[in-house]
Amino acid sequence: MDKIYPRCAICDQIPTKGLFDGFRLNGRFICSVCEKRIITAESGDMEYLKNMRNIRFILYPHPRTITAKQPASVKK
Ligand SMILES: [Zn+2]
Repeated sequence: MDKIYPRCAICDQIPTKGLFDGFRLNGRFICSVCEKRIITAESGDMEYLKNMRNIRFILYPHPRTITAKQPASVKK
């Protein structure tokens, strides 16, 4: 049986080491590259804000539960 390779919820890449190359957050997989990027990103940085938005989406996948103002570009 083949190994299961998860797809990163942030960068949409499949990590080379599979499940051991990252961690799970709320059932979604985040690869070690993104994990490192999240940890090292400076608060207020564009990269940081992008990561935060992605993580928020993972934690709260249903847009209706998010009360914060969202841009009109959110897919329906
Ligand atoms: Zn990633």
